[in-house]
Amino acid sequence: MTDETLRIDDPNAFPFWEAARRHELAVQRCTQCGHHQFYPRPFCLACDADAPEWVTCSGEATVYSVTTVHLPLIPDVKPPYQVALVTLREGPRLLTGIVGQPCRIGESVTLVWRERADAPPLPCFTAVGEQSA
Ligand SMILES: [Zn+2]
Repeated sequence: MTDETLRIDDPNAFPFWEAARRHELAVQRCTQCGHHQFYPRPFCLACDADAPEWVTCSGEATVYSVTTVHLPLIPDVKPPYQVALVTLREGPRLLTGIVGQPCRIGESVTLVWRERADAPPLPCFTAVGEQSA
């Protein structure tokens, strides 16, 4: 995920970045049907109910698709690096950066945070076991 896909100044995303400052990955959950969604919206995509609540995710996910970036697109991340679409255990998919060893489709990954000087920490993922390796 990048600032371009979920803007820090998007009012719908304020709770997301607030949680990120505490190193918590937050997504919305519908209070009527229980559907989890990301990106944040003022209503439930599944049943149209208003005012979904924010819940903290487990941080467990599976790589849905992954690509390697060879161009320097982000100033503070040196290529090559991987960008992946991961499926959170709670259901929503998140576009994110992979930290550490390259990941494969179907691989289990876990949440890590990339600190930034001028913005809230950015949620990234790393292969399960990578942290203790
Ligand atoms: Zn709903």
